Amino acid sequence: MRRLTFLVFPLMLAACSAGALRVQPAAEWSQGSEEFQVEAPAFQEISRAIGKEARAECQRQAGVRNCDFTILVDLNPRAPANAFQTLDDEGQPVIIFTRAMIKSAQNADELAFVMGHEAAHHVLGHIARQAESAQESAAIFNDLGKLNGETGKELERSQKLGAEVGVQMNVKAFELEADQLGTIITHNAGYDPLIGAKYFDRLPDPGDQFLGTHPPNAERVDIVQKTAKQLGLTQ
Ligand SMILES: [Zn+2]
Repeated sequence: MRRLTFLVFPLMLAACSAGALRVQPAAEWSQGSEEFQVEAPAFQEISRAIGKEARAECQRQAGVRNCDFTILVDLNPRAPANAFQTLDDEGQPVIIFTRAMIKSAQNADELAFVMGHEAAHHVLGHIARQAESAQESAAIFNDLGKLNGETGKELERSQKLGAEVGVQMNVKAFELEADQLGTIITHNAGYDPLIGAKYFDRLPDPGDQFLGTHPPNAERVDIVQKTAKQLGLTQ
């Protein structure tokens, strides 16, 4: 098992960064005696199909060299429903699903869609772009802090706030970008993104708040439907 290094994607990782993760490759995951709507063999097949299509899509993009996706299951039974993308210490993409996330899906298309979305974050270089944006914004806040005569801890706080603002500025746009490319990856892998995106119907809607962490669900459904139409899919 490659050691996982968690890089900057603070919003995605906020719920997951505490403590050591106990993970298992999706291909080996077994559900145990618990009941799931999508059972282990189907989840393994989704991981294989999405991993393959995500790799192909990744290799089509100029400048993305790290395209070997590993899909893992977080075995912690208490971890909340979540899926996220990170990088291992060789810079290869890793997608982690919690058991609760797998359990919360009503069908294979939903899991495929979530996996396609996470894979798209990597293909689109979102982790690196977030780090860049955080750095730029931290530097600006640092300069402003200095102008205001800040030093030491105070200046540090300004830098941190700057980094946060830098990340927040992109979050909504990145989510919608990942929904769009995720729709294509899901479709290419043989799953239905329109059925998959029904998962949004059950998510609490973050609404249209300023600097909210995610776009409103309606906007996300909208971009999935538009992309699906371009792919020739009808509802
Ligand atoms: Zn996302």
